[in-house]
Amino acid sequence: MIHTSKPVSVDSDQPDMEQLNPFMIAQAQLDEAAKVLELNPAVHGLLREPLRELHVTLPVRMDDGSTRIFKGFRVQYNDSRGPTKGGIRFHPEETIDTVRALAAWMTWKCAVVDIPLGGGKGGVICDPKQLSKSELERLSRAYIRQVGRLLGPEMDIPAPDVYTTPQIMAWMADEYAMMRGQNEFGVITGKPLALGGSKGREDATARGGMYCIREAARVLGLDTRGATMAIQGFGNAGQFAAKLGEELLGSVVVAVSDSRTGLYNADGLNVRDVIDYKLKNGTLQGYAHAQPITNAELLELEVDILVPSALENVITSENAARIKAKISAELANGPTTPEADQILHRNNVYVIPDFLCNAGGVTVSYFEMIQNSYDRYWSEETVHERLDEKMTAAFHAVHRQAQELQVHNRLAAYCVAVDRVAEAVQLRGWV
Ligand code: NAD
Repeated sequence: MIHTSKPVSVDSDQPDMEQLNPFMIAQAQLDEAAKVLELNPAVHGLLREPLRELHVTLPVRMDDGSTRIFKGFRVQYNDSRGPTKGGIRFHPEETIDTVRALAAWMTWKCAVVDIPLGGGKGGVICDPKQLSKSELERLSRAYIRQVGRLLGPEMDIPAPDVYTTPQIMAWMADEYAMMRGQNEFGVITGKPLALGGSKGREDATARGGMYCIREAARVLGLDTRGATMAIQGFGNAGQFAAKLGEELLGSVVVAVSDSRTGLYNADGLNVRDVIDYKLKNGTLQGYAHAQPITNAELLELEVDILVPSALENVITSENAARIKAKISAELANGPTTPEADQILHRNNVYVIPDFLCNAGGVTVSYFEMIQNSYDRYWSEETVHERLDEKMTAAFHAVHRQAQELQVHNRLAAYCVAVDRVAEAVQLRGWV
């Protein structure tokens, strides 16, 4: 039973009652860990809420001469272990509670991989697919003009997330430099290489996830060579997961999907060809060498490794019992509800929880900050080695915790991360 002051339904007979508000889910997950850790109630109360948040209104000149008003947010959840860090998402269904949840998960993510950063997140309610390149640039700059006052390499450092790209990070870094009257590349990560980006950042989220899958397979005695893999979401996380799933693990990618359709081929998809098709056409729709499937069908395929790489709440009490994968490696943030977690745990699906599995992105972003501050740049090989070291250590800290406490992996990851943040909060004398 999940303990929470804002109750979350756990009655799987009533899936329509299931809590799908991401922030309430994040709070319920924390509550569960607080109970196991017997967390000081004041520390628990502090960690349930963001420390600061800014809501902004952005007037943006459109190409036709009209002005449209957009809403945006920046949440600084907790900076007890270091400056807040977290991506900016551009999405038509963005909400403040999604940003709060993502900022909370960033806090636990930085703590679980033990990097000296706190958690933050940003978002703008918009549909980037409906904006021209110049409209997107003006929107990105307008966002920084408003939230820039809260940002800085020692304060809060954004990065890309859903539907934001290295080009958008470049415009944002430039706007910030204009505001400050000097270049400060360390204020934003995920930048293009020519503007102080790090080698190895582009595929870091997926690569970190693959290192976790490799370790999970070791502890489960599963051979990843020839293991089948299905990937939901085919953007930065999903495309590199497909590529690296083959390259690093020797797995066979049998299914992928984007927001419009899924593709399935029992003999394995030609990953390079599918990526080229998606990049050329902007969609997977119409790809000839596979059969179309829905996103829901993809999740329930009989595969060894499932990689949710799109959005929140795709594995719920409604479909969790039908998940047949041995490993669910969550590159997406928040794909699994607390009720679904219990079901997957009962059914022996080995979940690599989001804020562990997808921590490779922020880890290499942290490497990017270090390189920016020293103005010296590492080889790709060095980035990969240091990322592997961090992810492997974090994976085993969580796996050990799960074994010791006999709890599911997400709860174990929370226990590792929350304990570290709680220690910082108390050492600083906040509580
Ligand atoms: P992206 O914008 O590059 O790609 C998103 C993908 O999801 C697209 O292929 C899109 O078609 C697909 N998608 C959108 N709605 C969908 C739906 N309803 N069903 C199925 N697919 C859908 O974004 P990304 O950077 O790959 O992020 C994906 C997930 O990974 C998000 O949860 C994000 O928070 C998480 N994440 C990303 C990073 C990173 O470094 N990019 C780091 C950590 C976590």
